[in-house]
Amino acid sequence: GRSDWEAMLVGLNEVQRLAAAAPDGVNLILAGPGSGKTRVITHRVAWLIGQGVAPESILLTTFTRRAAREMVARLSSLVGPAADQVWAGTFHQIANRLLRRREFAEALGYQSNFSILDAEDALDLVAQAIDELGLGTRGRSSTRRGGSESGCGEAGGPLKPSTVQAALSLALNTRTGLPRIVEERFPELSGRIEQVEAIARTYAAKKRAANAMDYDDLLVQWMRLMEQRPDARDRMAREFTHLLVDEMQDTNTLQIEIVETLAAAGAGNLTAVGDDAQSIYRFRGANYDNLLKFPERHPGCRVFRLEINYRSTPEIVAFTNDSIRHNVEGFPKTLISARPASHLKPLAAATSNAYEESDLICQLIQEAVEAGRRLGEIAVLYRNHHDSIVLQGDLVTRGLKYTVRSGLRFFEQAHIKDVLAHLRVLSNPRDETAWRRLLLLLPGIGPAAASRILETILPTANPLDTLATAEAMASAPPRARGRFAAFVADLAQIRAADPGNRPAEAVHAVLKSGYTEILKQKYEHPEQRLKDIEQLGVLAARYDALDRLVADLLLAGDVYGMDTLEPDEPAETLVLSTVHQAKGLEWSMVFVMRLIEESFPNARAVIEPGGLDEERRIFYVAITRAKDELILTYPHLLSRGGRGPVVLTKPSRFLQEIDVNLYERAIVSRDVEPF
Ligand code: ATP
Ligand code: MG
Repeated sequence: GRSDWEAMLVGLNEVQRLAAAAPDGVNLILAGPGSGKTRVITHRVAWLIGQGVAPESILLTTFTRRAAREMVARLSSLVGPAADQVWAGTFHQIANRLLRRREFAEALGYQSNFSILDAEDALDLVAQAIDELGLGTRGRSSTRRGGSESGCGEAGGPLKPSTVQAALSLALNTRTGLPRIVEERFPELSGRIEQVEAIARTYAAKKRAANAMDYDDLLVQWMRLMEQRPDARDRMAREFTHLLVDEMQDTNTLQIEIVETLAAAGAGNLTAVGDDAQSIYRFRGANYDNLLKFPERHPGCRVFRLEINYRSTPEIVAFTNDSIRHNVEGFPKTLISARPASHLKPLAAATSNAYEESDLICQLIQEAVEAGRRLGEIAVLYRNHHDSIVLQGDLVTRGLKYTVRSGLRFFEQAHIKDVLAHLRVLSNPRDETAWRRLLLLLPGIGPAAASRILETILPTANPLDTLATAEAMASAPPRARGRFAAFVADLAQIRAADPGNRPAEAVHAVLKSGYTEILKQKYEHPEQRLKDIEQLGVLAARYDALDRLVADLLLAGDVYGMDTLEPDEPAETLVLSTVHQAKGLEWSMVFVMRLIEESFPNARAVIEPGGLDEERRIFYVAITRAKDELILTYPHLLSRGGRGPVVLTKPSRFLQEIDVNLYERAIVSRDVEPF
């Protein structure tokens, strides 16, 4: 009844209600930070369900997995268990789920148990492709042995795997030809297009042979399926009658084409939400034109503008408004705080060096905690992960608990990847990358020996079975055969522990295997690492299918959704995060540190066209995370890397350009000039 669906709109202001309850068709919600965009889109899903739309026909894309989880939790409180039926997740998560359907996987020439390569695995495979083609460092040294040094000029130096990978990825995500991407963004590859294309082909063949997709493939193959199989496209389009996209400004062209293809082939109900001023993923191919040109691409679309900021105090809103007006491009937006004046302006504090900066942050945090603020309500944000290292040391010394949302994440750590490699070969016995990782763990087996073993087992019907044969043994180097036999026996044990539906047992079997010894020899802090693996077992216990666990763990490394599966992220800790990982979130007290030229804005970005505006948007995202208190810090002297000469820094232009009446200035040391 009426009261039922009205309940879905409780807690929204008038414009928010209109947007949440907008009629079918194309709707765009365009508004600044803290104005309730995410809240509105969540309520819109609830409202649709209240109107009788089947939850499983709603597709909701979010920027991170954490965001998806939070929205589903919120949704549950509005619509109950139906919330879990909604297809909510990152583009990559949704692609993964869809492409695992047998008909779709097979139409694309994959088996539905395909592996996912995380960024590091993908990079390894690109490096192998480069080497096989003789274009890497290995290829060069063999040329040199052949006595030809002079060819270098023509062929160029060895190609860097990370550069090649970044170029390939950007071309795919922006739906742009490789030559143009190289010309515009990768001058170091110019004149070598043919080589890069050859690498792309070899890399693709390797992934195919391993029945594996990298992150980009998930989206590329989804799109390919819709382009090549109109029947599949139409089936999907009928299935998803309502499409909703949060953080539209950071979608790339490929993602947007996927959504718009679905909308065009189906009911055409599309709601997009975004803020062009918060577009910060250009380096991953995001393009806020997708948002700016949205009304042009969808004539007749309804546009909603939310102008009230519920997140931040008027003082903080005044400060952030003044910052973003320095960017010339973009939709003009008004943002007014709904909150009463706090009489607390943002604070900019100059310290004499990085140690004092860290000291000051710790001190202010301790004072806030003593005054009753919870640690979980505080965050320290920075432009680059390494900016946080000194601070991390101080926090440990002072016993302040923190969680890092940048840098190495749980699932990117070597020992976790080792355990995962065991599970991967069980899930997809053709997963070459995982096999290689396992074999290289064994003392006495190097890259050449690993390749020989793989050549023996991978072409066979079931490499897991072939591993236990005399042939496989014969391809191992004689001095490593004892270790190899033990590994074969271990893997059989692990395989027996999990017939496909008890992944936690498999993790425990790895803990009982010879791998534990290898871990103790190979890595520092083995006790902590063993505890991590136990935690992985706890996480695994939530799954009843090994394949699903493996796919989820591999997706956890996705830049768009990193670290959201951490087994026990404590809620009550201080958060340290890069600005990029802080997107969409809010804290009562926010520090933005290391606000100096060359760090923030980043030195390299400033010289790229459009780079400075992008850096300013990153700054804008940082300062708009704060609800009640915003503190900006800047060290006056800095020695890069803790060594070498100490240099005098310049405060960030992003601070200097803001009206001095909008913030307080503090000088912590006598010998320091204020901002
Ligand atoms: P961002 O651009 O940073 O992602 P957003 O526009 O998505 O921000 P939300 O995160 O949805 O904003 O909302 C910001 C804060 O304001 C949240 O704490 C939310 O609960 C609160 N909020 C939003 N709308 C209202 C409202 N009508 N009444 C009270 N609080 C609200
Ligand atoms: Mg949001």
